Amino acid sequence: LEQELLKLKDLPAVTLDGHSMRLMGNIEFPEEIPSLKGHGGQGVGLYRTEMLYMNRPGLPDEEEQYRAYATIVENVAPEPVTIRTLDIGGDKLATDLHLEDEMNPAMGLRAIRLSLRRPEVFKSQLRAILRAGCKGSVRLFFPMISGIEEVRSAKAVLRECMEELRSAGIPFDEKIETGIMIEVPSAVTIADLLAREVDFFSVGTNDLIQYSLAIDRTNEHLAHLYQPLHPAILRSLKTVADAAHAAGIRVCMCGEMAGEPLYLPILLGLGFDELSMTAVSIPRVKKILRRARRSDAERLVARALTFATAAEVESFVKSEISARF
Ligand code: PEP
Ligand code: MG
Repeated sequence: LEQELLKLKDLPAVTLDGHSMRLMGNIEFPEEIPSLKGHGGQGVGLYRTEMLYMNRPGLPDEEEQYRAYATIVENVAPEPVTIRTLDIGGDKLATDLHLEDEMNPAMGLRAIRLSLRRPEVFKSQLRAILRAGCKGSVRLFFPMISGIEEVRSAKAVLRECMEELRSAGIPFDEKIETGIMIEVPSAVTIADLLAREVDFFSVGTNDLIQYSLAIDRTNEHLAHLYQPLHPAILRSLKTVADAAHAAGIRVCMCGEMAGEPLYLPILLGLGFDELSMTAVSIPRVKKILRRARRSDAERLVARALTFATAAEVESFVKSEISARF
């Protein structure tokens, strides 16, 4: 079966009715690139950069970051690498960045909030990413966005970095695409406003489910309540996908939900343009995609949105998958 799935590697990620979806990998280290390619990943949809900052004394400087990003970008080219700026805090801790213990780290000074608080740290990362953009195809995105001001502030810092590189005569990607993670409920609610500010959305379901349902993503006693098919989550995904498309931007998903074949018909029906997942999941998701029709998936979603519980949605989707796929 594994062999059979791996044969899908070089076949296009396209539905029976000719609709393409880009299937990409989530990575943290350059060592994961062979597996990404071996499973047919069409680039990196989420490069988590936290590892460069964790389990070490001090912080990486611009050069160290540039080398790390450039290695990955060169190895994945011509396919794109979507680099997320530092998402430290919450469940991911860095040695030298934390100011004090927090009562609610998941809702604390983390991710983009921390980057904006420490502009010198943020700028070294942004300059490194901008420079790595010359080695291939890079897109940049910001984690934990909860409002418009954060996006505008982050983009203002990005413009400053561009100015600095320009005046120093250092080459960088002038046309870098910028996006945001949609993983905080307020970002879902104002998705139409956020869509005017960026080139793409990437939905982080790991955190979006945690914050929408108030279920700690790491608490095993609550695992039964952590429901990707909860009607509130489905409605949120629809809001985000519709807002993105109304504004003419791409909508991607890089949370774990993207790598579960059961959810593929829903994500296809909602119109997700790209899915990013652990590389080993790509063949299974592609197998379902290649047996699907976009038109059927749209009908399936319309029906799925009428159910009142996750259990009802799940049994409906399961029966549809066994009947059609
Ligand atoms: C997410 O929240 O879904 C996500 C992809 O980011 P992380 O798991 O790194 O928080
Ligand atoms: Mg997240």
